[in-house]
Amino acid sequence: MSVKYTHYLLLGLRFEEEKLWKTDKVRGCQHKIKGKDKFCSICGKKTWVNKEVPIEGYNENDEDLEKYGCESLCGFKIMFGGYENSLRYIGLVLINSIDYDSYDKKMEDSVFESLSKLKATLKEKIKEKTEPLGLWHEESFGFWMIEYVC
Ligand SMILES: [Zn+2]
Repeated sequence: MSVKYTHYLLLGLRFEEEKLWKTDKVRGCQHKIKGKDKFCSICGKKTWVNKEVPIEGYNENDEDLEKYGCESLCGFKIMFGGYENSLRYIGLVLINSIDYDSYDKKMEDSVFESLSKLKATLKEKIKEKTEPLGLWHEESFGFWMIEYVC
């Protein structure tokens, strides 16, 4: 059995998966309740229970992005961390090693000129959408190399 490595160079924001969830109080059953009853008078279940719910902007199955759906945040596809499976990324994949047959490839200078422009625009765009959600951290934005082993 051989080990296969796949690399992605991504420009974007890194964050912890748990930030995509929050705890909400939701109804414990479907029956109508009156006043401040702790338990339902019909089925006996708690009237309100804590539930982990996705934060605003987080879509667990975004079918607009891919045929079979994938996770997205504010319209950006979510990439998974390579070794730390609690890490998530959003942004743009710049290099995908599946598409490259060799690393010994010279990049055109123009690529880097457009990259710094792209970095500024993408940063602004991601910051604007993730800051209200509490996900933005200046030091978590930049170029990330992600390695998957399979
Ligand atoms: Zn009930």
